Amino acid sequence: MPLESSLTHSYPPPREKKYCPFCGGPLSRQFVEGRHRLYCDACASPHYENPVPASCVVVMDEGTEVLLVKRNIPPKKGMWCLPGGFMELHESPEEAAMRELHEEAGICGRIETLLGVTTNAHPDYGTVLLMGFLVHHWEGAPVAGDDADEARFFSLEALPEIAFQSHRHFIRRYLLTRPV
Ligand SMILES: [Zn+2]
Repeated sequence: MPLESSLTHSYPPPREKKYCPFCGGPLSRQFVEGRHRLYCDACASPHYENPVPASCVVVMDEGTEVLLVKRNIPPKKGMWCLPGGFMELHESPEEAAMRELHEEAGICGRIETLLGVTTNAHPDYGTVLLMGFLVHHWEGAPVAGDDADEARFFSLEALPEIAFQSHRHFIRRYLLTRPV
């Protein structure tokens, strides 16, 4: 299976922001520092828009099955994906990954390694920066929690359609790097 490159996809603009989050003044688009950016006249400052970081986890069972959760929130509601979500403030990428794993799938895990870093389009944020971690050692029984209707392991030979290109990328990374 070839690696998918996120660079081949065009990303949508983020959802338009109308007001400065610091002073509440109106934002306009101005050409600043080489780009058309949101700009607050009252603050005399650009409002920078950046990718939003998120972590997700490839949890393996016996090296043959991968844990997926069925989303019950947009985007891609009703589709399967890896457990994961946005980092909170003052949290490490690893902490975010393990917190989301517990919240969405009810299990506790230990991170083996970083599988990779990539990006994914998002309707609100434009670009999400995704970090994918591998977990072989975990405890508990998968049970659907926050943002999920189901949580269960799937054979790598019979995966359902995966909601996000970045998540497919991390599963492929696992397949390419696992010992044979
Ligand atoms: Zn302002």
